[in-house]
Amino acid sequence: MDRARLAVIGVGTMGAGIAQVALEGGWDVVLTDPIPGALDAARRRIADGLTRRSAKAVPDPAQRDGFVAGYLARLGIAGTPAEATDGVQLVIEAALEDLELKRAVFAELDDAAADDTILATNTSALSVTKIAEQVGRPERVVGLHFFNPAPVLPLVEVVAGLRSAPWAVEQAASIVEGWGKTAIRVTDAPGFIVNRVNRPFTLESLRLLRSGSGSIETIDRALVEAGFPMGPFALMDLIGIDVNLAAARGLFEAFGRPPRFRPSPIQEQLVAAGRLGRKSGEGFYRYAEGRFTGPAARFAGEIRNGAGQAPPLDPSALAERVVLAIVNEAYRAAGDGVASPDDIDRAMRLGASHPFGPFEWAARTGVHEVVVMLDALSDEDADTFRPALPLLRAARAAM
Ligand code: NAD
Repeated sequence: MDRARLAVIGVGTMGAGIAQVALEGGWDVVLTDPIPGALDAARRRIADGLTRRSAKAVPDPAQRDGFVAGYLARLGIAGTPAEATDGVQLVIEAALEDLELKRAVFAELDDAAADDTILATNTSALSVTKIAEQVGRPERVVGLHFFNPAPVLPLVEVVAGLRSAPWAVEQAASIVEGWGKTAIRVTDAPGFIVNRVNRPFTLESLRLLRSGSGSIETIDRALVEAGFPMGPFALMDLIGIDVNLAAARGLFEAFGRPPRFRPSPIQEQLVAAGRLGRKSGEGFYRYAEGRFTGPAARFAGEIRNGAGQAPPLDPSALAERVVLAIVNEAYRAAGDGVASPDDIDRAMRLGASHPFGPFEWAARTGVHEVVVMLDALSDEDADTFRPALPLLRAARAAM
């Protein structure tokens, strides 16, 4: 029997990672990318990823090259998206995050692909419905939102656009599950689950920094002590302050500019100064050759612990405030029908590596207590902390 075949359109960080996942899942993969050099770079990245995997999977070093070559033999290239669709069951587009570019790619894919080929986008923040707006058969267009690094993080948000057919969503979910991923179904709402519910992890931390309630170091340490794998400032440095700012801006606009999603002036300032994090050598911390070397230079307007309008908070109060903002957003997302509370909990553990799901935390703390804690903060910042309606309902039901 012929092996199943995937086409990947756009093979940067995510496209290469997804291709590796599918190869390891036993599929043939064909890559396409219009930018010169991108295909060679992706092939190298995939080979490196497989070599790292082989160190664990193949005890005998002499056999590792053969292991990697076996996978690479199933990797092909195509000149255009239309050519790449030949004989494939699934296409995953992972090109630049640009609506018009993605629409053009999907129009080409829709014309060329066989009727039963599923067309998926890996967009992080654009609407799947809008990407599919101009295609002839929008029912076979879905979102498959992998997390970076795709070969490592188990979560895939499977996004149903307004016109996606249930068969396409279910088949896409079952394919990625066959590759060993955990598929969580979400509706086509801005930020899906993780990019929305996790937004306060960085935005609330930036507000705490700005108000003088904590320093970069104390806030990072407080969240690591609370069980998060990395503090928010170290995390922004890792993913790129520009990338984080673009995601914050996208969500802010998509929700109609609510204050709670307003990007921080601190992010804007650092990006304008070219302080982008690890990749530029300096962000909230300083790095040499990608490695942490210590605190960064102060930036203009930076308020150090105790010097702002707000009194300094102790580590547990700093962490609690960030967690409360996340929990409140999780209730809002569930209330909007983005996903079920259980799925939101699983997504936050698997996609954002949180030590607990927001609903688990609320249940452990007691929903009444959560409402009281939020109420106490809502005078300072009503949009973030005013208890979400679904939370108030849960508290009433628990009485
Ligand atoms: P990237 O810049 O590393 O790769 C984008 C690739 O698209 C490049 O190889 C580029 O040559 C190619 N490209 C440019 N124009 C194209 C076109 N017209 N047709 C096809 N390909 C084209 O970006 P990335 O980080 O891999 O992100 C890709 C997509 O995945 C974006 O939609 C992004 O939002 C999403 N995403 C990114 C992450 C992340 O953490 N990087 C996580 C989840 C989803």
